[in-house]
Amino acid sequence: MKFFAANWKLYKTPSETRDFFGKFLEPASKILNSDTQTEILFFPPAVNLEAAVQSTKGFKVQVGAQNSYFESEGAFTGETSAQTVKTIGGTWILLGHSERRKLFAESDELIAKKFAYVQKLGLKPMLCIGETLEERESGKTLNVIQKQLSLGLAQANANQPFAIAYEPVWAIGTGKVASLEQVQEAHAQVRAELTAKGYSVETPILYGGSVKPDNAKALIQIKNVNGFLVGGASLDAKSFLEICQA
Ligand code: PEP
Repeated sequence: MKFFAANWKLYKTPSETRDFFGKFLEPASKILNSDTQTEILFFPPAVNLEAAVQSTKGFKVQVGAQNSYFESEGAFTGETSAQTVKTIGGTWILLGHSERRKLFAESDELIAKKFAYVQKLGLKPMLCIGETLEERESGKTLNVIQKQLSLGLAQANANQPFAIAYEPVWAIGTGKVASLEQVQEAHAQVRAELTAKGYSVETPILYGGSVKPDNAKALIQIKNVNGFLVGGASLDAKSFLEICQA
């Protein structure tokens, strides 16, 4: 199974969302209908979730939120309710994206709580991990991966599905894609950690960080790369489609 996930960050209005799907869905259905081994998911901004769910009704694509809180309702101003995401038809929640960690000070402990809550609701969390440039240059990459996985999955339920997105922070939105060797090494480490902790061998590990139509083909061949989490290049229907065809 290969997973192609679009992270739209804080881009697109509801009408731009509908426009995107107007261009994307018909050609994408050709891939999805002839290939049951591909899953395509979208993480639009929370206010566009309903537009995304409605525009994709009847198509084999999944929609989810970029973040959610570990309570369904209450005095939590500014948060997104995973329960509401589920109610409107969302199935996935992205958690621990490096922008959430860096700009919104999300800790591994908070991410772990959200992860467990999302699984409890029967939704699928996609946990993002990855090292900064400074951590890579000081030889700490594998330690960072190990720590973020172990803390982020501290309360995970091994019997419920989830995904990991390995995204080196220095490769996100920079145009600097990690080398094939760097991706191979990191994904092998993630797979080894997951296996050692007793998680399913089917748990997808996605790569993210400046994936574009012209580098997707080489990256998808790497062992333990089970798909991509794509930011910038997922905003354009044609370029995301080309990545999904990789
Ligand atoms: C992301 O936002 O998760 C991401 C990988 O962005 P980009 O593809 O633009 O590097």
